Amino acid sequence: MDRPASDAGREDAALALFWTVLHAPDGGTSRCPRCGTSRTFHRISRRRAYACDTCGTHVYPASATPFAGSPVRLAAWLDAAVMVLDSPGKIRPNRVAGALGIDYRRAWRMTRRLEEIIQAGGEDADLLGRLAGRWRDQGHSHSDPVPDPGSPEDRIRIAACRIMAQRGVEATRISDIAREAGVSNASIHYYFRSKDEALLAAFRWAGDQLHATLQHLRDENVGTLEHVRRLLELSIPGDQGVYEEYLLWLEAWGRVRRHPAFLDECARMSRRWTDAVLDVFRAGVEDGTFSPVAHIDEVCERYVAISESLALRATLGYSHMTARTARRLLARFTAEQLGIPISRLDPDN
Ligand SMILES: [Zn+2]
Repeated sequence: MDRPASDAGREDAALALFWTVLHAPDGGTSRCPRCGTSRTFHRISRRRAYACDTCGTHVYPASATPFAGSPVRLAAWLDAAVMVLDSPGKIRPNRVAGALGIDYRRAWRMTRRLEEIIQAGGEDADLLGRLAGRWRDQGHSHSDPVPDPGSPEDRIRIAACRIMAQRGVEATRISDIAREAGVSNASIHYYFRSKDEALLAAFRWAGDQLHATLQHLRDENVGTLEHVRRLLELSIPGDQGVYEEYLLWLEAWGRVRRHPAFLDECARMSRRWTDAVLDVFRAGVEDGTFSPVAHIDEVCERYVAISESLALRATLGYSHMTARTARRLLARFTAEQLGIPISRLDPDN
C-alpha cells in the first residue's frame, strides 16, 4: 500500500482516477470536445480540470458525476464509497465521520447520498462501484472494513460461479449476478472490473472448493483404495458441483488465447489437481497397494490427461459419452495403470 502522504496528494490521485475512468483510459489522451479528435491533456493546478495541449479547452472529470459541485473533497467521497460498499446497508455515519475525520452531519449526508445512488442502480451506481474499486485497489482508501463472514465479495463469487456455469459468460449480465448474490450492481463493479474478472474469481472459487474437498478427504484418512474411488468420482462430472466446475473450465479455456491471466489460472489449477492425484497414487505405491505399469509420475500425468478428456466430453454432452460411461472407462484405465483388479475400484465393472 503506498499512500500519498498529503491530503493534496490524495486529492490529485482522486481526480486522476475520475479522469482515467471517465475520459482517458491511458491516463494521457482523450477526445477533445473542441478539436473533435484524440489529444493529449495536462492537469491544471488548483482546479478540478485537465486542459487540451492543443487548444486549451478545459475538461472537468467530475462534472457529469453525482459529486459535481460538492464542497467535499473527491478523495473523501471515494473513501466513504469504499466503506459503504464494503458493508452494504451496515455502515454508520459515525464510523465514516471517525475514519475520514469529518463532522457527523456531513458524514451522515454523504452516507445517505451514496446509499441512494447504489439503490437507484443505473449508470451512476456502476460508475461509483468502478471508482471505489480502483480507489481501494490503488491502496488510497482510508476505510477500516468491518469483518463480515458472509462478505458481499464471497456471495458475488458464488453467484457468478452459478450463473456463469448455467448461461455462459456471454449471456450473463452483471445485473443477473447482482440479483443472485443479493447485492447491488455497484457492488459488482466495485469488486470486479469486468465480466472476465468475475469469471476468473468464480473459477478460482470453484477450484478452491475442489481443493477444500480434497483436503477434507486427506484429513478423513479413508485408506488408499477408497481415496482413489473418491478421486474417480471427483474427476467426472456427475453431481452438480463438479459439473458446474467443468462448465467454468470450458468458459476459461475459451478465454486463454485473449487473456493471459486465464492461461496462468488454468495451468495453476491443473497443476494443483495433478499434485493432489500424485499424492494419492504415491501413497498407494509406498504402502504396497499399487504396482504401477510405469513411473508413478507418468501414470499420474496419464490419469489427468485421460480424465480431463473424458470429463470434457461428458460435460459437453456427447451422446455416446454419458457420465456413467466416462466413469467406467476411467475406472478400468486407472486399475490397469495402477496394477490392481478393476473390481477393487468399481464393483459393477
Ligand atoms: Zn483541443
